[in-house]
Amino acid sequence: MTDRLFSFEFFPPKTAVGAEKLAAVHDELAQLNPAYFSVTFGAGGSTRDGTLDTVKSIKAKGSDAAPHISCISSNREEIDELLSTYRDNGINRLVALRGDMPSGQYTTGEFAYANELVEHIRNTTGDHFHIEVASYPEFHPQAKNAEDDIQNFVRKAQAGANSSITQYFYNAGAYFAFVERVQAAGVDIPIIPGIMPISNYSNLARFSDACGAEIPRWIRKRLESYGDDSASIKAFGEEVVTKLCETLLDQGAPGIHFYTMNQVQPNKAIWQNLKLS
Ligand code: FAD
Repeated sequence: MTDRLFSFEFFPPKTAVGAEKLAAVHDELAQLNPAYFSVTFGAGGSTRDGTLDTVKSIKAKGSDAAPHISCISSNREEIDELLSTYRDNGINRLVALRGDMPSGQYTTGEFAYANELVEHIRNTTGDHFHIEVASYPEFHPQAKNAEDDIQNFVRKAQAGANSSITQYFYNAGAYFAFVERVQAAGVDIPIIPGIMPISNYSNLARFSDACGAEIPRWIRKRLESYGDDSASIKAFGEEVVTKLCETLLDQGAPGIHFYTMNQVQPNKAIWQNLKLS
């Protein structure tokens, strides 16, 4: 139990009011004593300053913070500057990604894929950073095929990733099958399930279509049946996601990373249901 890692993910707020609200969310979730808070990095560096400011305020409050860093549309100089700023600010954990552009139109930066970014971070900063990479139990939507995606994950581990956080999923079987395939390919870095609590069906359906995470039919049907009854959606969501986490942890998952959407609830409720602290 002590080796397991529990963490929360935030996105950088866009306004001063948003920053104030996030500070309050942080303070409440920090009482649960997570290992760290990660902060996403907007497409093509659009939240470069926002990510840095958010990470700094988390650190200033005494919590560990892990900025996400993506290489899409960034050049080597920009990446190196960011890495050195993070080092100067006492950051020693990163989530290294290729990234996405919202429009789907972008010019590839100097690093085309996340494995190249990881390799560059290792070559230039040695072991300073603990590097997390993304993984996809239901496979990345742009992967040529499932085997290719496994091989991509293997490349990221071989490039120097220490551990991984998965895309969210609601099917525990997909996670364990992925872990098994990766281990069979000789990679044994921890793969932490990324968990998306359910509190709003239409938002969840939109995200899931975009990122290739499947909402199982029985969950969709139940959520649809509640219509605008948001209390029932939240209650059902909490129950389903708590059970998913219990199954994952009981069967050996090395922790949980919560995609909080900058909300206290339902993350805190699930955490408490799981008796994590
Ligand atoms: P990669 O590992 O580079 O893979 C991208 C695709 O390319 C895959 O389909 C892979 O199979 C394929 N591929 C890899 N190498 C090759 C090759 N040599 N030839 C052909 N195909 C190849 N996005 C953001 O913009 N900001 C964030 O902060 C952010 N945080 C995230 C956090 C987590 C935990 C996760 C799971 C995702 C996050 N994302 C974020 C989304 C992520 O950026 C997208 O899923 C993106 O499309 C892929 O990033 P990656 O690092 O997994 O890419």
